[in-house]
Amino acid sequence: MTSIDGYSAEVLFNQGFCYTYDDVIFHPGFIDFAADQVDLSTRVSRNITIRTPLVSSPMDTVTESEMAVAMAEVGGMGFLHYNMTMESQVEHVKRVKSHNPGYVANPAIMGPSATLSELDKLLTARGFTSVCVTEDGASEGTLLGLVTTRDIEFVRDRTTALSEVMTTVGKLVLGSTDMTLQENETTLLECKRGKLPIVNRHGCLTGLLTRANVKARLNRPAAGAPALDNHGKLLCGAAIGTRDTDRVRAQQLFGAGVNAIILDSSQGDSVYQLEMIKFLKNELPQLDVIAGNVVTQQQARRLLEAGADGLRVGMGSGSICTTQEVCAVGRGQATAVYKVGQVAREFDVPIIADGGIQNSGHIVKALALGANVAMCGSVFSGSTEAPGQYFYQDGARVKKYRGMGSLDAMKKGSDSRYLSESGHLKIAQGVSGTVRDKGSIKSTIPYLIHGAKQGFQDLGADSLEKVHQMLANGLMTMEVRTNAAQKEGGIHDMHSYTKVPW
Ligand code: 5GP
Repeated sequence: MTSIDGYSAEVLFNQGFCYTYDDVIFHPGFIDFAADQVDLSTRVSRNITIRTPLVSSPMDTVTESEMAVAMAEVGGMGFLHYNMTMESQVEHVKRVKSHNPGYVANPAIMGPSATLSELDKLLTARGFTSVCVTEDGASEGTLLGLVTTRDIEFVRDRTTALSEVMTTVGKLVLGSTDMTLQENETTLLECKRGKLPIVNRHGCLTGLLTRANVKARLNRPAAGAPALDNHGKLLCGAAIGTRDTDRVRAQQLFGAGVNAIILDSSQGDSVYQLEMIKFLKNELPQLDVIAGNVVTQQQARRLLEAGADGLRVGMGSGSICTTQEVCAVGRGQATAVYKVGQVAREFDVPIIADGGIQNSGHIVKALALGANVAMCGSVFSGSTEAPGQYFYQDGARVKKYRGMGSLDAMKKGSDSRYLSESGHLKIAQGVSGTVRDKGSIKSTIPYLIHGAKQGFQDLGADSLEKVHQMLANGLMTMEVRTNAAQKEGGIHDMHSYTKVPW
């Protein structure tokens, strides 16, 4: 009798237990390619392809236009949250669609009469070191000048107007909308200045290029190419609910150019989602509709039969989530991804593994167990691109991160995700707290992706397609880790150490 040297997913996930990512460990395969050759291109939904298999959560402390721009610039995609008015959400879609990849998204802009103390507040809140001054303080107004922290650090009177301290437009080196990104980058590097405001032929500000951004881009490993739609604009998704008013919202978002809609619910197997899918597929057939969340095959099948173009998988796995504790419903995320993935493949529809991702190993596990894309909230929270302002807590620079089912978020209107909008008593299914400053996602993502590629190399799979074949035909073997094995798999027996991820 030959000894059993590992189990296929089919065997492992059919034993009456549900597993999380940390429970499971894969066995290595045969390597005959370099990690750089691994192709992680994938589909987010039936008709949307991206090269970086990561998307950002539609949460109000994770994805607004700045995050969506950055995600698409590194080859992923951002989903705008909808804990805001329809008009604001549409405005965010427009900002993503009008953004020129490679330039600063949403630079700080003020009018000439603004004071230094107003500028101080803005720069501290957003972590910037300069502001463009336009005639009326509007984003595409006539450029009058630029103020950097160097211009103002020794000015005592903080009621001074920007017009008195700015470097006026005549003394600035400017980039032009008629030049390519590379040409503007060359101008910036050759003039040895820190910032290059970009203007159109009429002298109106259209963007900003900074030396720090160019340097960061050149110094980090290549991320995926920007994720673009058929018109060459950055891809952008958005979440909506399932109320009647959300039908109008979907139409407006589509009008602004959104590429995919997420029906945002913690339990997606509902008559509300089925009706919404039917409505959207009839009225806006060009728009991809991602339904969910689901964790079982039965839930998934109903939504797929109704015409869903993608599924979001996960219930209770999120870092800020208390659903399993409060409602006793959900599933371990590794099992959920594997089970739903099996059904989705029958329909040739991609799935998004949503929640519970903490590191590149979890991304490998999500993808290798059948997901096409991993959706992250926590990993991208606290970044420069996440909404909200930095502040100090116990000596650490932090930003707020909260569940959309936290009382804090529900007070602002997100309770429809938890079907509790009409209830008088709101029951939280999430928490609100803070996370440390994580810097820009444009630095984080390339390293996460490189880590994931090394994982694929160890598995002996040079693409997502290959790993899914190995999963289906049982060639990829795995086991469950005991508590002791998990302990052994982490760092142990050190007197002291620092863990530097990259
Ligand atoms: P994370 O990446 O932080 O582990 O998980 C993010 C995911 O958690 C989101 O994409 C969403 O599916 C889910 N989520 C967001 N807010 C809440 C909440 O308040 N309660 C629950 N149950 N899930 C949440």
